[in-house]
Amino acid sequence: MSPTAAGGRRGPVWIFDLDDTLHDATTRVFPHINRAMTAYVMQHLGVDRPEADRLRIGYWHRFGATLIGLVKLHQVDATHFLRQTHDFPDLPGLVQRTPALRQILRRLPGRKIVFSNSPIHYCEAVLDALGIADCFCFEDLFTIERTGLHPKPDPIGFRRLLKARRLDPRRCVMVEDNVANLHTAKRLRMRTVLVGHTVRKPRGVDLVVRSPRQLAKALRLHRPVAARGGC
Ligand SMILES: [Mg+2]
Repeated sequence: MSPTAAGGRRGPVWIFDLDDTLHDATTRVFPHINRAMTAYVMQHLGVDRPEADRLRIGYWHRFGATLIGLVKLHQVDATHFLRQTHDFPDLPGLVQRTPALRQILRRLPGRKIVFSNSPIHYCEAVLDALGIADCFCFEDLFTIERTGLHPKPDPIGFRRLLKARRLDPRRCVMVEDNVANLHTAKRLRMRTVLVGHTVRKPRGVDLVVRSPRQLAKALRLHRPVAARGGC
């Protein structure tokens, strides 16, 4: 049994987004990724910077990720794109650590999984920089590759995760900074926690916390579900 399965068969299953949920990506990491994506689009589509930015943002809104637009409409190789845009040697120095994050995660009872729209090599590097890459924090890392290129909020990616880990969504608590992703989780009958600063709790969100440090509050969201079959 994984160390993170200590919550037992009836405990909660925490599904964590990575960027801007477990660490602040917006301030220092995302500007690097955005520049790399724009450069990639300019080079491979032969467009100038304003057009590359316009396409990139448009695909993000339309498909949930720049990558999907490039694959569907421009036959870009997904593996090449993900490697080129999420690979920078100074990443560990850019990742901003959330204080006491490891202790916070270890104290939460139940299984824990990371579910990210980013590629696996990047997620592993960020988790390593945060000091939470080992199995004592997370039992699995479900990344864009494993969704079959169906990034959040696409329900197909969520269902692939549920099937791969044999999860009952009623036991799952999705922790995210993106409300659209939480809406999909809610439609699949998960509990939902928004990480962020908002004065009003959005529809479909069960709890808002300002940082992972407040996650203990989310324990009250979990209602034990009678175990059936392999869930
Ligand atoms: Mg996020």
